[in-house]
Amino acid sequence: MDFQLTDEQRAIRDMYRSFAQKELTPEYVRWLDENTTFLPDDMYQKLAELGTMGIGIPEEYGGLGLGSIEHCLIMEELSTAGISVGFCAGIAEVFGGRPILALGTEAQKREHLPRIVEGKEKWSLAMTEPDGGTDILGAIRTSAVKTEDHYVVKGTKMWISGAHVADFLTTLVITDKDTERKKGLSVLIIDAKAPGVTIRPIEKMGVHGCGVNEIVFEDVEVPVENLLGEENRGWYGLLKVLNPERISTSVFSLAIARSAFDMALRYAKERTAFGKTIGSFQILQHYLADIAVEIENARNLIYKCAWLHDTGQPYDVEACMAKIVACRASELAARYGMEIMGGYGFAMEYDMQRHFRDYKQMMFSPISDEMAKNYIAQSYGLPRSY
Ligand SMILES: Cc1cc2nc3c(=O)[nH]c(=O)nc-3n(C[C@H](O)[C@H](O)[C@H](O)COP(=O)(O)OP(=O)(O)OC[C@H]3O[C@@H](n4cnc5c(N)ncnc54)[C@H](O)[C@@H]3O)c2cc1C
Repeated sequence: MDFQLTDEQRAIRDMYRSFAQKELTPEYVRWLDENTTFLPDDMYQKLAELGTMGIGIPEEYGGLGLGSIEHCLIMEELSTAGISVGFCAGIAEVFGGRPILALGTEAQKREHLPRIVEGKEKWSLAMTEPDGGTDILGAIRTSAVKTEDHYVVKGTKMWISGAHVADFLTTLVITDKDTERKKGLSVLIIDAKAPGVTIRPIEKMGVHGCGVNEIVFEDVEVPVENLLGEENRGWYGLLKVLNPERISTSVFSLAIARSAFDMALRYAKERTAFGKTIGSFQILQHYLADIAVEIENARNLIYKCAWLHDTGQPYDVEACMAKIVACRASELAARYGMEIMGGYGFAMEYDMQRHFRDYKQMMFSPISDEMAKNYIAQSYGLPRSY
């Protein structure tokens, strides 16, 4: 068993760490949280020039052609500086590039992947609907009726990250309503600016720098060539990209935990009470030790999933576990971080309140902890409880 990063992996991590220290200062990240709903173009382009939008996209399409471990390393560094930065930087590859790589035709790959890598195309994944995300098969209503040369799409999607800036929407639709639901779904590439597409931003509590939206499709005409993968096999196709997405969101939680821990530790070493630094009180030491344990735990599980992915082994159960453990780490770090900083933790001018708001998003998205536990339990032969 080898826990060592390769020289190349260390170099990649260090390069992004230096980039983050120089460009993603606490002031910049605070500005993003207070003023933006997506990464500004200049920063998006700087990150694209480093190859960030095509980490796992093969070199023949302009990407870096790296594995999941490298993806995690890069996202961990960017997201530790600011969760919204990692989120915005990862979205085009995870929601556009990966589905195209897994399901797309050669023509679709040639058309879109190089533009994603260059930062010229942004993508969102539109699965969830107003009636539910966990039971998407029960809740989906958005339909696409095929005519001679296009599909006509009607319906509403909910909570779609980054759709307000997206060029394309990877969209799950019903194409055969008369069969078992999972056998009648397809994935369409929908032009976000097409007539009939209305995108409405939704205000939310945290991760302000990457906004979410409701999308209404009113008789939107989508060319038949925009079918991604096989018609009526879209559900099975998308499942292939959902496990890697779980690793990515676990990294966001890990990054929040790391960031909150670093801040709390610094504060505990500086703040004094009763003539001592507060970091000399055993209970606060235990808070910090507890967070450190959870961070280490989460990192080990996340990178194990990445390694399983890169070596072609199954990891769907481990990805659910990593998601839960990483969420716990971020929750504990944000909660104890607030305790350690006392009143200052509650002040808007310090960043701990942001971690406290941000961690919550990853608790239920892309999959809730409850549902992740259902899958884990089922993997041990327990009956499906729902
Ligand atoms: C900020 C944000 C960003 C998002 N980004 C995207 C995106 O880019 N694309 C996209 O498609 N979706 C996105 N989502 C949607 C997200 O994936 C869903 O919110 C998530 O799947 C949960 O669905 P829901 O909110 O409808 O909750 P529900 O499905 O209504 O669940 C409500 C509660 O019931 C519990 N529950 C449901 N079923 C069970 C069960 N069988 N056993 C135990 N508990 C159960 C859940 O765990 C949860 O606690 C985003 C959501 C948010 C809030």
